[in-house]
Amino acid sequence: MEFHDTLQAVPVSAPGCSCSGDAAAAVAQVHAEIDLQTSRFAAQTGIACPSGCGQCCHSPQVEATVADMMPLAIELVRRGVAAMVLDQLEARSDEPRCILFAADANDASRGRCTMYALRPSICRLFGYSGQRDADGNPQFSACRVHAESMPKIVAEARQAVVERRISLPILSDLAAQVRAVAPEGSSRPLSINEALRAALQTAALQVWMRSLQGEDDYDGDSPTPRIPPRRAA
Ligand code: SF4
Repeated sequence: MEFHDTLQAVPVSAPGCSCSGDAAAAVAQVHAEIDLQTSRFAAQTGIACPSGCGQCCHSPQVEATVADMMPLAIELVRRGVAAMVLDQLEARSDEPRCILFAADANDASRGRCTMYALRPSICRLFGYSGQRDADGNPQFSACRVHAESMPKIVAEARQAVVERRISLPILSDLAAQVRAVAPEGSSRPLSINEALRAALQTAALQVWMRSLQGEDDYDGDSPTPRIPPRRAA
């Protein structure tokens, strides 16, 4: 199979093909851990996103590493739409907003992520996380929409974090976890569209290499990369 064919044909011609890679599967595990921490924080504080908001996706400053985009890119390759998405990235190269965002037909300020289940870490953490200050104390970074629409809840969450009554997901700690499991592709964050482009090219190359090697262990029924069993130490 030629590399270009891989971009379009692999999921159709070889639906059982392995295109996960241990690193992408490990990144997916970190994403699951992030979801665990943020859902706990949301339940403890009452912070919740308004339905169909999507304001955070409008920012031209959303960044991700290539490694963080790999589970999503692998799924796009598996679906056979990698070439189409790469074409869209090319055609909309001036678009600062993430191309995975689908605006509402009736209200372009609202919308949804078309790859929500596989979005990168920052999209999972925004509004439900924070950093440590110079003294190592956790500081909640509230989303502007939350701060304006539920100021009392946000203020109480801030106070609960300062008093360490609840555990705050820490952005830098979770980014470090992604770096640890997938050092390649974690060297620097890119704009989200650039990270998507690089991840798609890497994912397609992995699929192509594996097809050449005759490897065929991708769980085609799963929306996410198959997580390999842990090896005994
Ligand atoms: S990946 Fe999804 S959640 Fe993240 S910026 Fe793009 S559309 Fe928004």
